[in-house]
Amino acid sequence: MILLTRKAEFSAAHYYWNEQWSEEENRRVFGKCANRNGHGHNYTLEVTVAGEVNAQSGFVLDLKQLKEVLNGEVVDVYDHRHLNLEVPEFRDRMPTAENIAISVWERLDGKIPGARLHRVRVYEMPDLFADYYGER
Ligand SMILES: [Zn+2]
Repeated sequence: MILLTRKAEFSAAHYYWNEQWSEEENRRVFGKCANRNGHGHNYTLEVTVAGEVNAQSGFVLDLKQLKEVLNGEVVDVYDHRHLNLEVPEFRDRMPTAENIAISVWERLDGKIPGARLHRVRVYEMPDLFADYYGER
């Protein structure tokens, strides 16, 4: 088995707000991130798939297909969007790096031909990222 990683980038806005909490509680927990007008990040996504190297092609999978799935399922949906307001899964799921990693996994799982999804890594900032390996 070998692991292969493809990177992608998208820019999106978000804010953190829990409707079940008071305004004070939201401000205490989320600080500036609770500003309802939102703020932006340049996210970097790393999608790692696991598979076997094909003896004929030397590839694990068709990289063009992987890019198309990644773009169609994630980048085109998230890029230049307000995640809370425009992406369905974040209406009731806080768009943190952790939850974005889980959501990207759910969008890609089972849709990558010829390989198995191994890890989704989401960088919210160069020094902050979340990894998700699916439910184990
Ligand atoms: Zn943020």
